[in-house]
Amino acid sequence: MALFYPSGATLVDSDFVETAVSATYSAAMSCSARNAAIVFLLLFLPAPHLFAQGASTRLSFADGQIDCEISSPQGTIPELLLSTLPVAMNAALEHVGPPPGPARLVLRIQKPPPFYKRARALFRVEAFAIQKNDEILLHVGDDPLKLAFRIAHELSHWLVYKKHPARPPLWLDEGLASFVGAETADTTARIHKQSLERPPPSKLEKNLFDLDELASLQAYPKSAARSAAFYWQAEALVRAIHQRLGSTEFGHYLGLLCASNPPPWQTPLRERWYFSDWDMNWLSEQIRPSTAIPSGGEK
Ligand SMILES: [Zn+2]
Repeated sequence: MALFYPSGATLVDSDFVETAVSATYSAAMSCSARNAAIVFLLLFLPAPHLFAQGASTRLSFADGQIDCEISSPQGTIPELLLSTLPVAMNAALEHVGPPPGPARLVLRIQKPPPFYKRARALFRVEAFAIQKNDEILLHVGDDPLKLAFRIAHELSHWLVYKKHPARPPLWLDEGLASFVGAETADTTARIHKQSLERPPPSKLEKNLFDLDELASLQAYPKSAARSAAFYWQAEALVRAIHQRLGSTEFGHYLGLLCASNPPPWQTPLRERWYFSDWDMNWLSEQIRPSTAIPSGGEK
């Protein structure tokens, strides 16, 4: 899945606007938004075969189960990426779990698109990362926190794809990816002795979804403001459910919603974890900015 955000912005939730084209999210082929994003990305990225003098390296994770190849069009692999990737992978493995068998991931570092092409991008934003099957295309940049969020977000999508081919509902896939991204950015901030600031997107109040509307979304919202609200609220909902269930039980919940014929999102919460109407009201409050659990607030 692709992440977009305005060039040079601070790490705010509204930065992470996925391909908000009018594509339908389908469980079978992850989503056509991703395909649209890939086409979009490839339109302004140089073809990989032009990178004759590139560098590559391999890292392994999850006790050797994940073989990760990193390739770069430049002569070196950025140190920032090598130090951030293990933190992001650990967070993704912790919250999604390892793939069911040996898995290979290719991480292709991309050159930033030239300015004149960036200006033509959707919502005047720049594509920074995208996951498609076993490949992640990534702009590294020079901001450790943005990079941490970006890689972890895509690694979460990749691990969900490996572990649950039927895929979860849109809110859960994106919410979990951003939750894992935020956790990784938070850890990276502590490593770099920086503070992570994530103010809610502007105009959030005017663009909020209610709980059932959010959980039943089948397609990415078309407007930038609605899309920013969707990402913010999906992450907040995942954070709230994760806080109530804990990591292990959250993993079970994810598995249940990734079944080929999944139950409604509330059913397992009510039947297996005894959520009451009061709990559902509490979840409704957590997807509003005034009452949400702050990012990083559950440690
Ligand atoms: Zn995503």
